[in-house]
Amino acid sequence: MNSGLFAQAMMDMGATLCTRSKPACLLCPLQEDCLAHAEGRETDYPVKAKKQPKPSKFSNALLIEDIDGKILWLQRPDNGIWGGLWSLPLQFVEKIAGKATKTATAKKPEDSDDRLLEVASNEKVYEAEFTTAEQIINEWLDKHKLAAKAVSKTLLDDAPIKHSLTHFHWYLTPQLVTLTAKQTAEITEALQAAEININWLNAVDAQAALGLPRAMVKILE
Ligand code: SF4
Repeated sequence: MNSGLFAQAMMDMGATLCTRSKPACLLCPLQEDCLAHAEGRETDYPVKAKKQPKPSKFSNALLIEDIDGKILWLQRPDNGIWGGLWSLPLQFVEKIAGKATKTATAKKPEDSDDRLLEVASNEKVYEAEFTTAEQIINEWLDKHKLAAKAVSKTLLDDAPIKHSLTHFHWYLTPQLVTLTAKQTAEITEALQAAEININWLNAVDAQAALGLPRAMVKILE
């Protein structure tokens, strides 16, 4: 059998006679041999593949602010999500018993009742987006015992910003960290020493001057 002709014939059948919602069985040359027709189950085929739910992951989006209200922006590496665009530093979190907990190494969330948790996140999903810049920042924050604070109680507790990508849902919770001038100089130096492109810009200037992914714009809005 010519497989090309066969494939073409199947496509033509699907486009003309054997359509998903209204198969024209009376006109069909395959009617006598068609099991679906014999069983009266013409519209049961083709069986729709069950859509797999996407995994979810959770991050704090750190609004690290200097004394002038300028925010730290990082240019993301070319490979990975938002390649080359600018984002707030992220801090990955796991959802346990409805609470967001900071974690540097991702673990599997355990609370399947959590209303935000559609499918347990996995380490690969986290690791892929955890950049060197974020490692430096998170370690630096830990070293200086600088905790991020909720920007808004509502955002933290009830409605993190949901951003859906092709392979997962991302829940981003804005968190504020305010630095002294000395701390600003210190973290700037640490990031520049690692050759990471950074910018200190307030929300308005960042939107005007930097390429921001939609998720970041949502946070600023
Ligand atoms: S007989 Fe079978 S192949 Fe032909 S149109 Fe009906 S369901 Fe499709």
